[in-house]
Amino acid sequence: MAYDKNNIFAKIMRGEIPCKKLYEDEFAFAFEDIAPAAPVHVLVVPKGEYKSFDDFSANAPAPLMKGFFAAVQAVAVKMGLADNGYRIISNHGADASQTVHHFHIHILGGRSLGGLLP
Ligand code: 5GP
Repeated sequence: MAYDKNNIFAKIMRGEIPCKKLYEDEFAFAFEDIAPAAPVHVLVVPKGEYKSFDDFSANAPAPLMKGFFAAVQAVAVKMGLADNGYRIISNHGADASQTVHHFHIHILGGRSLGGLLP
């Protein structure tokens, strides 16, 4: 499956769909999830056309990888999650129920999150 330039997150980054933006730098863009699963639920997406973690890890240049993951950490700190803790999740493919095919990391926090899977 090729990268779809009209996926929802590509449209959000182009400003074609509104979002509650929390952070942006040259590597990453972060915004609130529209259906939060925790008191804090932020999506962080890299700038660039990557379908999932699998694609990003295999194909992104090292500076983008470094900058992207630095941005994920910076957003978690900005949201006040670093002291009490947070969880990052990234779904790749059908078994993980990935629904938007632009690589993204979910940052979840703001309460005790319990076990790894429901
Ligand atoms: P996935 O299932 O692909 O890991 O996660 C996709 C996430 O995108 C879901 O948590 C869903 O709530 C969120 N989402 C889907 N459409 C929109 C949208 O238009 N705006 C925002 N902010 N989040 C969205």
